Amino acid sequence: MDYFPLFADLTDRPCLVVGGGRVAGRKVRQLLRAGARITVNASSLDPVLLDLASAGKITPVIGAFEPALVNDHLLIIAATSDAAVNQAVAAAAAANFRLCNVVDDGEHSSFIVPGIIDRAPLTVAISSGGRSPVLTTLVRQKIEGLLPARLGAVARWAGKWRETVRARLPDSRARQRFWQTALDGAASDFILSGRTAQADRAMVRALAADQSPSDSGPGIAFLVGAGPGDPELITLAGWRLLQQADVVMHDRLVSPALLDFARRDAELIPVGKSASAASISQDDINTLLVRLVEQGNRVCRLKGGDPFVFGRGGEEAEALAAAGMPYQVVPGITAAVGCAAYAGIPLTRRGLSKAVVLTTAESATGELEPDWANLAAGEQTLAIYMGVGRLNDVSRQLVAAGRPPDCPAALIENGTTDRQRIVRGTLEGLPELAEKHAVTAPALLLVGETVALADKLGWFATPPLSSGLRPDGEVTASGEAIWTEPANLSPGAEI
Ligand code: SAH
Repeated sequence: MDYFPLFADLTDRPCLVVGGGRVAGRKVRQLLRAGARITVNASSLDPVLLDLASAGKITPVIGAFEPALVNDHLLIIAATSDAAVNQAVAAAAAANFRLCNVVDDGEHSSFIVPGIIDRAPLTVAISSGGRSPVLTTLVRQKIEGLLPARLGAVARWAGKWRETVRARLPDSRARQRFWQTALDGAASDFILSGRTAQADRAMVRALAADQSPSDSGPGIAFLVGAGPGDPELITLAGWRLLQQADVVMHDRLVSPALLDFARRDAELIPVGKSASAASISQDDINTLLVRLVEQGNRVCRLKGGDPFVFGRGGEEAEALAAAGMPYQVVPGITAAVGCAAYAGIPLTRRGLSKAVVLTTAESATGELEPDWANLAAGEQTLAIYMGVGRLNDVSRQLVAAGRPPDCPAALIENGTTDRQRIVRGTLEGLPELAEKHAVTAPALLLVGETVALADKLGWFATPPLSSGLRPDGEVTASGEAIWTEPANLSPGAEI
């Protein structure tokens, strides 16, 4: 180990920063966050440091550096742009046995400042021993993503209960086991989702029953939106809960790449329903979910898109609520939002669309026939889920109800994934094109004037070339160019 890591309590301790520019300012801000009493020595101060000085937050000593200045200071940072001055500061500090950091100069430093992940009171410090600040930053970014934003609140909550738990469980091994399950269980889930009162209640119950807070009741279900396909489009909260779950019940539409994030020992249960294949019924899913939670499992119910948008998450939440089981809902990016973004189709746009309707063309039970007259009104974008099977009918009904036959429309198949295909044309012509290109589920139908903006705004798809340049481009009766790709489609192809 080249450097000995330590966390120093600088509250109200005297520290010296030599330098009056931007770099010195950055160091001053870091030290201020730690509560240090700071003297800044420089021939002049930049405006930020001047403000801090006039606000009484730092003590300025204007003039050349004098070695005697290092006396009475615990930590010293040399941050001038003059290497000779910085080295003089380091030499004075060394002669007085003070710890000194020279910015970007490991050789003359007796301590270095690590990269910091601040979840106060929890702090992670990372250092490459001064060898590669960029590597330190990359590692810091990776760890940042792993640590929930409210982790500091968990540390504070644990600190609040520390004495009580110590008194209740005098045996240190029993106490350690208790805390391990408490901090990796339902109680910390409550804190991480901002529900301190519930966490406290779990703790009180657990201490009364002499068991860990996570054993103190039933498990919990997380109804998590996985996003539309691209595995990166899950939320941080969803990702964290997926990693914690004992059991993951997932839909067919959930990206397999996401399932890799489940715990190694987690049980994965596919409960996908598809329009054609015989599959598990919603009642069976509800029953299984409730049973798993009752058995004390933390169940991640991972659903494509958003759980509450055509995801039947509402029915699952109702089943859990009826059985008195705790649950948490984590929203996801729904297919309409994801597909629109990846197709370059703004769902709203001044002058073109002032509303978005999320609806479905599926009327499995026969009673859900859409209100065509309302849907046909102008200046709104329709996002129609599960519409591939009924595309002909949808197109005919909308035109009959008054939406112009040449209204732009697009079908986005496997949106946001590397298999995304877009078939784009007019409301009237789309069914024929979809059939020609054999579009299959999952596909989302977008109808509205903004669909035409994909010409300009498409960024994920292979950009369509202008008319005449492509041997396989064809021109519809309305004169609109439709672009076809060779059978072997490239990722994100637009056809
Ligand atoms: N809860 C999901 C919707 C589930 S219903 C959500 O919020 O997105 C399934 C329908 O969603 C599919 O038939 C299709 O219309 C749409 N869909 C889901 N993922 C899609 C994707 N990657 N590309 C296109 N459509 C998708």
